[in-house]
Amino acid sequence: PANRPVVGRFAPSPTGRMHAGNIFAALMAWLVAKSQDGSIVLRIEDLDRERSKACYVDAVQRDFEALGLTWDKGPYFQHDRDEAYREAFRLLQNKGLVYPCFCSRADLHAASAPHRGEKFVYPGTCKNLTDEQRKERALTRKPAQRLIVPDTVYAFTDLVQGDYRQNLATECGDFLVQRSDQAFAYQLAVVVDDAAQGVTSVVRGVDLLCSTPQQLYLQDVLGLEHPEYAHIPLVVAETNRRLSKRDHDAAIDELLARFGSPEAVIGHIAGITGIAATCEPATPEQLLNGFSLASLPHMFADKVQIAWR
Ligand code: GLU
Repeated sequence: PANRPVVGRFAPSPTGRMHAGNIFAALMAWLVAKSQDGSIVLRIEDLDRERSKACYVDAVQRDFEALGLTWDKGPYFQHDRDEAYREAFRLLQNKGLVYPCFCSRADLHAASAPHRGEKFVYPGTCKNLTDEQRKERALTRKPAQRLIVPDTVYAFTDLVQGDYRQNLATECGDFLVQRSDQAFAYQLAVVVDDAAQGVTSVVRGVDLLCSTPQQLYLQDVLGLEHPEYAHIPLVVAETNRRLSKRDHDAAIDELLARFGSPEAVIGHIAGITGIAATCEPATPEQLLNGFSLASLPHMFADKVQIAWR
């Protein structure tokens, strides 16, 4: 409904320090929410317990603060939310939409040979196992759990990318809601958290555009409202791969050293991405001046990627 207060989010995975790409995503989320008198929730996405580190949880918050990227609620942690994920999982189970999947990594690899950049489509190998077969397989292997998807097209209008459609059955397949190590999957966690935290506005990289139909479907099955989505271009290194922790020249410490101040870092990122006309130093607050949701679709010269420089 149009009258819900706007709530955006920062959803960092605490697996490293921030880089220019994370800063750009957070800045955009902040601008989109604040330009509509909205608020921001900070959610630490530490589902991956192996790769998440406490030192990055602290560092990420200090980095946001230093850059003037304020949040109004949180931090919330995914590691505190297992009960909520379990409850949603049970609901899906009770609707008969979940089945155990015994496929190994090698099985999945053999089952499909996706072309570069193409989304993996699960062929439904474990869907029609009998109870007998399931029992037998469970003796040697702890299963993951998959959600049955309908043969329907999910369509939505992204605030940056425009109309997007995906047939869940043919372009995605039944997807994981719980991994074989019993951790709940990203798609389930993100949907449950966005709803519980009142998130109405999701701003994130375009690499997650193809996940959105899965999330819309989960929201429908769980009886949750759909947020608005804005999938922004990825900041890429010269070779067209997205920036990563390996790109030291884009890491926050390097940026602060190179540009001299948080305002200069924000200003540079705003200038090269198209948020601002120049690379003049600026605070997020200053960039808010003149920022509007209506200008979003025209903000980027290329909606998919922006070269880091
Ligand atoms: N935690 C994810 C990341 O750091 C973002 C997930 C999302 O925005 O839905 O890239």
